[in-house]
Amino acid sequence: AVAPVERSVTLLGATGSIGSSTVDLIRRARDRYRVEAVTAAKNAAALAALARELGARFAAVADPALYDELKTALSGSGIEAGAGPEALVEAARRPADWVMAAITGAASLKPTLAAADRGAIVALANKECLVCAGTLFMRRAAAAGATVLPVDSEHNAVFQSLASGRRAEVARIIITASGGPFRTWPIERIRQATVEEALKHPNWSMGPKITIDSASMMNKGLEIIEAHHLFAAGADEIDVLVHPQSIVHGGVEFVDGSMVAQIGPPDMRVPIAHCLAWPARMAGATRLSFDKLASLTFEAPDEVRFPALRLAKAALTTGQGAPTVLNAANEIAVAAFLDRKIGFPHIAALVEATLDASAARGVLREPADPDEAVAVDHTARSLARDLLPEIAAKAF
Ligand code: NAD
Ligand code: MG
Repeated sequence: AVAPVERSVTLLGATGSIGSSTVDLIRRARDRYRVEAVTAAKNAAALAALARELGARFAAVADPALYDELKTALSGSGIEAGAGPEALVEAARRPADWVMAAITGAASLKPTLAAADRGAIVALANKECLVCAGTLFMRRAAAAGATVLPVDSEHNAVFQSLASGRRAEVARIIITASGGPFRTWPIERIRQATVEEALKHPNWSMGPKITIDSASMMNKGLEIIEAHHLFAAGADEIDVLVHPQSIVHGGVEFVDGSMVAQIGPPDMRVPIAHCLAWPARMAGATRLSFDKLASLTFEAPDEVRFPALRLAKAALTTGQGAPTVLNAANEIAVAAFLDRKIGFPHIAALVEATLDASAARGVLREPADPDEAVAVDHTARSLARDLLPEIAAKAF
């Protein structure tokens, strides 16, 4: 039998979709995991309850105004409270062997980097920090001897498949995409899509930001950039394949023609369990029944109906600060769509306009340190906000 892993863990973004799936797995193997720190954006009550249940030593909320509320909710527990961006970084710095990076968006960058900088095992769910500052992040992780484990299902699949050969023997990396709720819709109907329709993902239950990204296929665009950084792969080495059943998550084609793929149920607890127990395996929460699978189908992605895919690839090819701008503009666009300030096709339109405007201003320098990444990110966000009314007025 494989010896059980015993590790101390910190959960950044503990109250979210990925955070909750991670907690579910920890609950099933409480004797093997000791929780050091947990963080959340705003929900102090839920965070305090979680910290108490898991016996965490430190809990931090992103919103500094919530310090007193969290402190009161933790009173008598002996659990330390923290609030504000510095407290999130402190949570990451605390000595846990393993850190789940599951904060949404570029806000994850500094805390995740703090975990990498001290050489932790970083289970990376957040993709925006690789898109925003991937070169910097991977360089710092390597320098500190950190282990970066991909949680994103497609990248976890590629990571597992890569174990069948050597990196130099890889001909092609494949990540699959469900195609989202609008996969079969004509372009005219996609243009009229509502927030409710975009939030109805056919296979996965996820946080709102990534669910909208899946509908626009920007999620897959971000994932191409993520794969580029995680596996040191060129844009031409990474293929996207639309696979509506979300059973084959990704794989690798080796030079001899062998293709190795990872297959599993569309449940994030599978890749999270792989990372939580890595390099061992733990008992999981779900199993795939092959006899219940009617068929597995594959098709090429459509960049005309889903322009976000084209924009992300172009940003990767342009390099420098273009992916940072792409990510920042997309975060603004998705938030505006969820707030019903813009329509669905305006998301990609705003991202494209922001990329063009940034290129024209010549601010597309590759971020060399986290402050520079944050500065490029902030500039792009204000540019996107400035462009928002003009884009919102566009008729599609
Ligand atoms: P979510 O919205 O459900 O949860 C996000 C978590 O981060 C919550 O705990 C929230 O409180 C916290 N948070 C949000 N904004 C924050 C901020 N500004 N500062 C500090 N904390 C903040 O999101 P999720 O679906 O769990 O996704 C988390 C990350 O994992 C994202 O980057 C997403 O792209 C990635 N991811 C998610 C899935 C999935 O199935 N949900 C799959 C692959 C990758
Ligand atoms: Mg994914």
